[in-house]
Amino acid sequence: MKVTRIAYSARLNPGKYAALVEQARRLGRVRSEVWQRYGSIAGVGSGLTDRQVRDRWLADGTHVQFGVLANAWKETVRDAMADVAANLEAAKVDVRRAINRRTNDPAERKRMFTALKADQWADDPFLARQMRKHWKRGHNRTHDQIVVRADKHNTTVDGRGRLWLAIPGLEPRKMVRIPLCTTVAPTGTVRLILRSGRVEVHYQIDAAQMRSSQRPCGEATIGVDKGYTEALTDSDGQPHGTGLGVLLTRESDRLKERNRRRAKLRSIANNAALRGNHAKAHRIKVNNLGTIKRDRQAARHRARVRTEIFTAVHEVVDKAGTVVAEDLTKRFTGRKPLGKNISRRLVAWTKGVTAEALKNVSERRGSALVHVNAAYTSQTCHRCGRLGRRSGDRFHCTSCRVVWQADVNAAINILHRAGDPDIALHTPHHKVKQILQDRTDRHRTRLPVQDSSPATTGRRANHPNRSTMSNK
Ligand SMILES: [Zn+2]
Repeated sequence: MKVTRIAYSARLNPGKYAALVEQARRLGRVRSEVWQRYGSIAGVGSGLTDRQVRDRWLADGTHVQFGVLANAWKETVRDAMADVAANLEAAKVDVRRAINRRTNDPAERKRMFTALKADQWADDPFLARQMRKHWKRGHNRTHDQIVVRADKHNTTVDGRGRLWLAIPGLEPRKMVRIPLCTTVAPTGTVRLILRSGRVEVHYQIDAAQMRSSQRPCGEATIGVDKGYTEALTDSDGQPHGTGLGVLLTRESDRLKERNRRRAKLRSIANNAALRGNHAKAHRIKVNNLGTIKRDRQAARHRARVRTEIFTAVHEVVDKAGTVVAEDLTKRFTGRKPLGKNISRRLVAWTKGVTAEALKNVSERRGSALVHVNAAYTSQTCHRCGRLGRRSGDRFHCTSCRVVWQADVNAAINILHRAGDPDIALHTPHHKVKQILQDRTDRHRTRLPVQDSSPATTGRRANHPNRSTMSNK
């Protein structure tokens, strides 16, 4: 498994930066050409490889118009073809959900999944229709990146201990040397991203080399619920990543205040322009409405949140050999779009980071990650199984007459779901509710209980069904 590392340039000469921007702009045209020609069923959808594209371009002379070195455009073609393929795979995620909704027959599901995986969906009317619906034709929007293969760049250390990365420029045999603000040399294929006068050098390292990957995982089976105040709460009642809520609230307040100020400045600039004072309008735009500081602050905040969440997941994996969690990559259809509400956008983003951290850390440290259906887990009492009321961080069960801590209650319910015989990962929301109600009704009328609901067996999820998803 690979993890991305980023090194930044330190005080880069503006002339060099301009040359890199020009190179990236020309390579952007290479990317656009790839998307234009091969970004559909006729291209990547038909199994065309980047090598075949290279041979075609060399044969018909397409590459000459771009004015870049051979290795640069070839590597860019490879990268752009991978982007197109990723776009296709993203569409398949939606189609797989559609398949799950369409049929419950395992054989039929399997047939459709296989056809989809092998790119043989064109012959099946349902699959073809779904692919047309979900595979939006993409366009290239990347004009600020340069991809350099491992054997085309090198690093040197100068007399003052500063690290320099040398990459090919637009002229043959003339390298552009970039000073870096790190002492760790980037390795393998590097991706240079040019952003507001600074070069970001993205490269990947093997996760097995990281110290945190050597940490052994625990042995327990633990359910986790994602939260706002804490990144995660586990089924033992322990919170993890307790600084998350403060980080998010502070950032949301800061953004609201900053956006208010910027709107005010923008209106002053617009009014000045209307009155003909273009010098003033320009001054405000350049000095007060720039994006460099704003983007760097945003990046710093993202890094802090990621650290908080990854640390939380590491803590859980310290004691868990199996982590049971909601599938946080699942999108809920029918929800309102997030719009401009800043805190809701931040929360939506953290959900993605939590999903990434759970997958990444489990994979690196060898614990199993089991995804379960989390419908109603925050609204059900973990002891009696009845639907109750959640208010803030408290959950009231009217039947047990107990108040639970809401996140802990949800985490225990999530843990129980791993061994639930009736509620599978894709059981629809309304059906889950029906199942939960049937269980409590049966309990009330004292009918024999045929299934093994949590109400009768307690925490049977200590032996969860691992078939859902496992890294072992
Ligand atoms: Zn109860």
